[in-house]
Formats: sequence, C-alpha cells, structure tokens
Amino acid sequence: MMPFTAHLYKWYELHARNLPWRDTCNPYHVWLSEVILQQTQVAQGTAYYHRFISRFPTVAALATASEDEVLKLWQGLGYYSRARNLHKAAQQVMGQGGQIPTDYAALRRLQGVGDYTAAAICAFAFGLPYAAIDGNFYRVTARYFGIHTPIDTTEGRKQFKALGEMLIDRKAPARFNQAMMDFGATWCTPRQPRCTECPLAAECCARAENQVLQLPVKAKRTAVTTRYFHYIIPVFESEGRAHTVLYGRPAGDIWTGLFTPPLYETAEPATADEVAEAIGCDATALVAIACNLRHQLTHRTIIASAYRVHLADRTAAQALFQRISPQHSPNFVPFDSLENFAVPRLVEKIFERL
Ligand code: SF4
Repeated sequence: MMPFTAHLYKWYELHARNLPWRDTCNPYHVWLSEVILQQTQVAQGTAYYHRFISRFPTVAALATASEDEVLKLWQGLGYYSRARNLHKAAQQVMGQGGQIPTDYAALRRLQGVGDYTAAAICAFAFGLPYAAIDGNFYRVTARYFGIHTPIDTTEGRKQFKALGEMLIDRKAPARFNQAMMDFGATWCTPRQPRCTECPLAAECCARAENQVLQLPVKAKRTAVTTRYFHYIIPVFESEGRAHTVLYGRPAGDIWTGLFTPPLYETAEPATADEVAEAIGCDATALVAIACNLRHQLTHRTIIASAYRVHLADRTAAQALFQRISPQHSPNFVPFDSLENFAVPRLVEKIFERL
C-alpha cells in the first residue's frame, strides 16, 4: 500500500463520517446520494436523500413519476437539470429492462451520468476499482503530490485520471473513495485545511512548498453575470378565491420546467416606475414586496424585485401576462394551491413575503 493510502486510512479509521448511504450497495440509492451530494452539503443532502427514497423507493417509481413531481421534491437544491436528468435516466433504465447497469461504460450512457457518478456507482455498489474524481480528489492529490497542472484542462483531467487509476485500492475501492471524500470535505478543505494536525503533512508537497492555498490550480475563472429580475404577481378573485398567475420556465435558460410569476427582465437595474411603464401598468398599482433581493447561482447573480398588482379579474390578469410574457402560457393558480408547484428558491422567498 502506498504511504499516501496508508496515512489516509489511518485518518479514516478515526474520522469516518457516518452517512446513511454508506450502509448500502443498492446502486439506485448510491446513485441518488451522489447526484444529491453534488448539489449540497451532507447535512441538507441527507434530508433530501431520505425524502427521495421514501417517495420513490425504486428506479421504477422514479421513472413513472411526473417531471413536476420530481422537480417539486428537488426544490431548493438548485441546478434543476440534474433532477430532470435523473428522471430521464430512470426512464432509460426502465426501457432497458429495469436493471441499473453494472459496468462503467453502460452507466456513462445514462442521461446526466458523468465520469464521477459512474465511478462512484461502480465502486460503492459493485466494488469495481474506479476512483471517483471530484473536487475533493483534485484538491487532496494536487496538494499532497504537488501537482500544478490546471484541473480544468484536457491535460490536467488526464493526469488526475491516471493518478486515480494508480491510487485506487483494488481490494477496497469503496473504502478508498469514501476516505478521500471525507478527508477532502472535512480536513483538507479549500480555505482552512487542518495542516498542523494532518497525518499526511510530513510528505505533503504543498505544505513543504507553502503552496497549500494555491492548489489545485484552475486555468479559467468563469465570469459571473448579473441579471435583473422584476416579478409581477397579479392578484385577482375568481370563484371566491384569490388567484395569481404562474408560468413554466422554458428550456434553454435557468430553472427550466419550474414555475415562476410573470417576469420582466432588464439588463440594468430598473426602478418601479420604469418597470410599470414597460409593462403598461400604472406605477401606483405596483405594490413592492421585495426590493433588490440578491440570489447567487453558480455563474449568475440575480438581483430581484417583486411587485403585487391587484386586478379586476382573470381577463385583466391574462392581458397583463400577455404584455409581460407573450411567448409563454399562463397558469391561473389559487394562492392556496401554490405549494403544488415547484418553484425556484428565490421565488419561494418572495412568496414568503406575500
Ligand atoms: S498537510 Fe494540509 S494540504 Fe497537505 S494533505 Fe494535509 S491538510 Fe491537505
């Protein structure tokens, strides 16, 4: 066993995390846990994991659910394309006889299953010798072995993949991957690694060269763009109940398939008067319920405002909707049924202020 792995295992004996999906070889459970954990920290992810397992106990149950139901359960995790891919991949599995593939190449052909997830399922569910190369793997190995090749280049990916093939414990691939994940997530962390009490410190190149926080290296920094969202929340009475309007987000932009109130977007900040004029509304009709709410997505910052506008009836709501979003179809929804719709976290926060 390499000194790296020996030290890592000693650390793992003392510090392994007790996670619910560690007790299972069920490939569906492993798959779910990995997809959820790509989105969130363990504490929050555990609740989602249990919710998914209990609502969709099998791949077949997930495959037959509606996309809306899956998105609703995923609500709050962000990156909704992952939930849609998971759902489509479950349908692919059912179309192929209902068994989750047991080899890497076939797993990779499932919608949304990339190198990392395929390797994790292979190692955790089937005991196959694949290293799950995630951010933890990049960080820990780049630091320990002193690798300065940028991780987001073809050369870097090749180099770290080869390193994974060399390091993987062929007798215990699951244990190796779990130890790497736990060590990276709790000890050799991005900003505050615990180097002074680290059992790998004596051989760690980054520590010797005082380069810990410089590694791993990334070639590109992704530019973050800012978008300005102005939500207009119509309110009208119909059959004795207060209603509003939602529409389903189209493909090709953020939050595909989720529902939001009518949205007017600007490239620059805009005042309530400017918004009112643009959507053909009297400025005094707009009641501000949120102003410059900042919402951070991976590559975008959204600055959102929201306005309530009281209207006479459904016809008026439809006309307003047509002026704001002529290319979409409105859903007229009673306020007491809003919870049946999957909405982005930002919209959930706005609804809490209604
Ligand atoms: S010494 Fe620091 S940088 Fe090196 S492996 Fe340990 S925690 Fe990570």
